[in-house]
Amino acid sequence: MIKIKNKFSSPLWSDSLMASNAFKEIKKLVAQIYAETGETINFMEVCGTHTMSIAASGMRKFFPKELKMLSGPGCPVCVTSQGDIDRILEIAAIKDVIITTFGEMMRVKGSSGKDLHSVREEGADIRVLYSPLDALRIASENKDKKIVFIGVGFETTAPIIAQTVFHAHNRKINNFFITPLFKLVPPALKAVLPDGHKISGFILPGHVSVVIGSKSYNFVSEKHKVPCVVAGFEPMDIIGGINMLLLQILRKTPKVETEYFRAVTMDGNKSAQEIMKKVLKVAAAEWRAIGSIEKSGLVLSDAFKRFDAFKHFKIKHYASKEPKGCICGKIIMGLALPADCRFFGNKCTPSDAIGPCMVSSEGACAAWFKYGGQQ
Ligand code: SF4
Repeated sequence: MIKIKNKFSSPLWSDSLMASNAFKEIKKLVAQIYAETGETINFMEVCGTHTMSIAASGMRKFFPKELKMLSGPGCPVCVTSQGDIDRILEIAAIKDVIITTFGEMMRVKGSSGKDLHSVREEGADIRVLYSPLDALRIASENKDKKIVFIGVGFETTAPIIAQTVFHAHNRKINNFFITPLFKLVPPALKAVLPDGHKISGFILPGHVSVVIGSKSYNFVSEKHKVPCVVAGFEPMDIIGGINMLLLQILRKTPKVETEYFRAVTMDGNKSAQEIMKKVLKVAAAEWRAIGSIEKSGLVLSDAFKRFDAFKHFKIKHYASKEPKGCICGKIIMGLALPADCRFFGNKCTPSDAIGPCMVSSEGACAAWFKYGGQQ
């Protein structure tokens, strides 16, 4: 394993009395659990935003060695399958198509080694947007072109893209399409909990939980007996969440708790859920390196299926082949750390990435490369 120097240099948050007390408490609780079980505690931060916050804050260096933080399947770019990236690139190469996308999809390579950035250099019209609603303006201004918005993401992104499709429907915009490649977090949690798994607890995503509500995770603590805490994204939110997980383990009371109570309710955001229900429907989805998971994605419902770019352009399904030697799949399943990859930091860097975990602004490899991550 490569030794990575943590580039963290004492940011203000960790100098506070509150942080110092929280770290002391974490050390004490970990010692108590380790004395009882003799086993390392493995917490998975499911969301890529948590992964970045943990790395950027440098909090790992304050954790005892018996506490490990693993990355999970919550980075939308990282979990998009290689086959689906190939399908997106095929659409991008079609004449008179304008691809619109969030920026982080630009550098994810397909199996040919090309990405949206290189396809744009070859002449394709590809535009980076901050909101999918801007794609409707582009569609209205370019009636002789077909506008495709790259729809990837979780329950956080799906409502705004569903809303955009709904507007396109109401405004009778016929030259607008999306690639419906949405993923759902709860089924992904099931996938990382096979028999014999080593996950001691989950730090669950704050923003997804704002939409779906904390009760969506009850099956994790009830069926799998794994503690869960929905946490916000500030370092003290995550540390608070870790403390709550440790207490659940010590008290042997696995349940779903919310640290991010300033934004998350048990039932979630009804308006966001309604627009998703109106425009999208649950279907099987293909996950990078995991394969197809039943009922783990959202595609366009029958009433809105004419907006499906794959159907409109008759794009076939591609088999997924991972970049040779890339272990992104293991990393997003919590089975490996970025430094376990032989390409990390040498053949694979953010400026010349092999796999999506190094490309995405929420990818574990990108986080470790930028901030250091060794525990
Ligand atoms: S360092 Fe690069 S090749 Fe290795 S797992 Fe990460 S993205 Fe894949």
